[in-house]
Amino acid sequence: MPGTLITVTAPSGAGKTTLVRELLLRDPNLRLSVSYTTRTPRKGEENGREYHFVETERFLEMRDANQFVEWAEVHGNYYGTSRAWLTGQINEGHDVMLEIDWQGARQVRETFPGSVSVFVLPPSLNELESRLRNRGTDSEETIEQRLQAALGEMRHVQEFAYVIINGRLHVAIDELAVVVQAARLRYTNQHKRYPQYFSFLAQDY
Ligand code: 5GP
Repeated sequence: MPGTLITVTAPSGAGKTTLVRELLLRDPNLRLSVSYTTRTPRKGEENGREYHFVETERFLEMRDANQFVEWAEVHGNYYGTSRAWLTGQINEGHDVMLEIDWQGARQVRETFPGSVSVFVLPPSLNELESRLRNRGTDSEETIEQRLQAALGEMRHVQEFAYVIINGRLHVAIDELAVVVQAARLRYTNQHKRYPQYFSFLAQDY
């Protein structure tokens, strides 16, 4: 497959969505996968833009028909990445970014050895807590649950190839751009994308 696959994982409150959005504006060859989910849309979310919102029954049918390259249950909802869309994009030579949780990132690492996994950390636990607090008028209990969930995700950080600390946004965007470039330059990806440069490997000497 000629395109490159990058997964980005972060606890909620690490600022991953803004980071990825800004990078996509900069990098026209990078496509973001729109996942399938069984969770209900939040205010302002549109079907087909943030997610493909589906009923649980439909999701499970798709899962059982092997239509997801990875899937996971996160906070009581199912999430999955479309196999057909992903392989189509990669075969056309586009680089694809997946915003998925640690369970999905683990599956993608196994299925696509040329892929690169990135974890985004908040600059500190205090900062994470205040970002979670500033999200709205949630109860103390909800905030505490979110913080525990975030810590649960962060405990998987050592499974990832790259870590970006999202303190100052413009620095983090530059760093993510560098990781994407490095992913493109991996031997496996270069060899698939530009086989003509590697034809000498098959020659006798
Ligand atoms: P949210 O519902 O807040 O948008 O996302 C909740 C979590 O699900 C986030 O950690 C997000 O990265 C993860 N997620 C979103 N789409 C997928 C997906 O297709 N697969 C997996 N494994 N996780 C996903």
